[in-house]
Amino acid sequence: MTTVSVLGSTGSIGTQTLEVVRSEPDRFRISALAAWSSVEALIAQVREFRPDIAAIGRPELAGQLKAGIPSDIEVLAGDGSFQELATRGEVVVNGVVGFAGLGVTLAALGSGRRLALANKESLIAAGPLVQPLRSTPGAELIPVDSEHSALHQCLRADGQNPKMRNLHQLVLTASGGPFRGFSSDDLERVTLEDALAHPTWSMGPKITVDSSTLMNKGLEVIEAHELFGVPYENIEVVVHPESIVHSMAVFTDGTTIAQLSEPDMKLPIAYALSYPERSAKPFGSIDWAQPKSLHFEPPDKDTFRCLGLAYTAGQFGGTAPAWMNGANEAAVDAFLKGSIPWSMIPTSIESALDEYDGNEADSIDSVIRADQRGRECVATYLAEESR
Ligand code: MG
Repeated sequence: MTTVSVLGSTGSIGTQTLEVVRSEPDRFRISALAAWSSVEALIAQVREFRPDIAAIGRPELAGQLKAGIPSDIEVLAGDGSFQELATRGEVVVNGVVGFAGLGVTLAALGSGRRLALANKESLIAAGPLVQPLRSTPGAELIPVDSEHSALHQCLRADGQNPKMRNLHQLVLTASGGPFRGFSSDDLERVTLEDALAHPTWSMGPKITVDSSTLMNKGLEVIEAHELFGVPYENIEVVVHPESIVHSMAVFTDGTTIAQLSEPDMKLPIAYALSYPERSAKPFGSIDWAQPKSLHFEPPDKDTFRCLGLAYTAGQFGGTAPAWMNGANEAAVDAFLKGSIPWSMIPTSIESALDEYDGNEADSIDSVIRADQRGRECVATYLAEESR
């Protein structure tokens, strides 16, 4: 029995993790559940899975949570409760949305646990802080992002050569999002509803907007660099609209190894929970008896500028990824609230990166400061633009 702690349990990754656990009840047991504010959904999950402990991010909802669940289940509340729960269970699933997931990542690795990481922002913004914790005895980082789960699997196929001497290149696939093939003029007119209609993946609103700008892919380039230690010049992006090939590793002898499945986040989740074994239950199996075509094309980096901005921030290093990530979160938030058009997301981030101060990511404070400065730069830019 593997015990699993799910942070962000009512979100998209959290609920799909619980589906995986439900599919193999003899293999997994939920030991901790935490949600930020969806208290009713959390109560229903606690009643079904009976963890040892549950947490709610907003302290004012703690009473409601306690009243709704059996009294022998421990309840924590507030900001620090997520970190506490990240030190429970053998596998910690970090499904917290955005930069707020950093504390969970640091606590899980620092306490020598396997971290099933869906919160890419914590690795992207705070890579230099996360990296040393990966060598904590017992600590292990298995990506839950579909592309990085694919890369993890492709690299395993080469015998998990620890130095990856034979690796030439990582190729991340991108669906291209709902605006693939759009011109800059077309993009001036897209709406929130358009941006939220992802062609192949069902995900939360923030990441769906990030997919529409290609910033999600840009963040994933930085994530791949941090996870696998591959230089930026050896990480490529290719648009693959069917979302069947989830990413590829190209080796020095010319071989490309790819991982394929129908798009289903439950597969990378089950992989991270089951590793080094595999799930007994299939998710996203391809029916090879049916005809199938797969297409690949280079991304339109001139029109979708967020991808290039992410490479720039990654190559700056230091706190630049945190700065850019903060700027992106602020810009996407403004877009989701209807205060700015889609086309101002990349221009906001670009203006924020122009202000980058070059600081090192040597402490949590420096990363938090960079994240805030990125957000402030976007706020200033948007205030000036609206004048
Ligand atoms: Mg992904």
